[in-house]
Amino acid sequence: MCGLNGTIESQQLNDSIVLCKKHVDRETTTSCERCGDFICNECVQDLFNRQVCLNCHKNYGGKLLSDFQASLWGKRDGYVWMIGGIGSLMFFSQIVLWSVLAFQVIFDGNGLSGELWEMFILVLFSGLALGITGAYFLLKNWARKALFLFPLTGFVLALASFSDTPNAIGLSFVFVLLPLVFVISAYTNPQNKLAFRIEVSTEELETLFETTKSNSAAHNAFALSLLAFFLPPLLFLSLYLALRGRKNCDPEAWPPVGGMKPAQNALILTTLGFLLWTVILIFSARP
Ligand SMILES: [Zn+2]
Ligand SMILES: [Zn+2]
Repeated sequence: MCGLNGTIESQQLNDSIVLCKKHVDRETTTSCERCGDFICNECVQDLFNRQVCLNCHKNYGGKLLSDFQASLWGKRDGYVWMIGGIGSLMFFSQIVLWSVLAFQVIFDGNGLSGELWEMFILVLFSGLALGITGAYFLLKNWARKALFLFPLTGFVLALASFSDTPNAIGLSFVFVLLPLVFVISAYTNPQNKLAFRIEVSTEELETLFETTKSNSAAHNAFALSLLAFFLPPLLFLSLYLALRGRKNCDPEAWPPVGGMKPAQNALILTTLGFLLWTVILIFSARP
């Protein structure tokens, strides 16, 4: 390499002091955790929770992360597809519902059962729900916040129907807990933010890279373990992926392979899923 290295090496040999590679007048004890060059406090950069030099941060980390961010910018993530799917299901069930009602009115001549204002509210609510899920699928930013209307409306409706029960508020909250968790996890998910073209912090981007890019097993295991609560055959797949995701983890690698947290969470949720469905099977098998 260049003469600078020679100077440092001779300095080290002569005085056993180490100098920053960039600022040759500064003593240091720190070295870059990627390339091993000596760096002073001013040169130290953070990348995947490790201390690296300016060069590695810019040329290696910067490019890796900006390419990764570009690959997710404006691309629909799992949450968008799931909510889009729920929206389409609602749309088709509305078509069936209104067709049946229209059929009754035309051929039975009975008129509609129920009050007119009830019909009006139903139309209003289903129109609103379809509008929000549709806008969400089209990646309109306001729809991310509007999604909170679903658990909120559910809470109000549950509260109204449990109004005679002594513990109405607690019961209503339990009722909407799962939708609320789903909406919050979508709202705070960095990949979902990138889908809606919202900037995320470097830390968020690094964590996302560690789980989705380098350990997709752990990432998918977590999503599957949520879904498996409703579709128990998926429990076996989420168990397999969670175990594989745990095995994949290698924080010493460059770039580091993370995903221990989602893999562990998936394992806990899968175990709970197995317990839940075992209880359900035992109870349903009883005469
Ligand atoms: Zn370096
Ligand atoms: Zn320096």
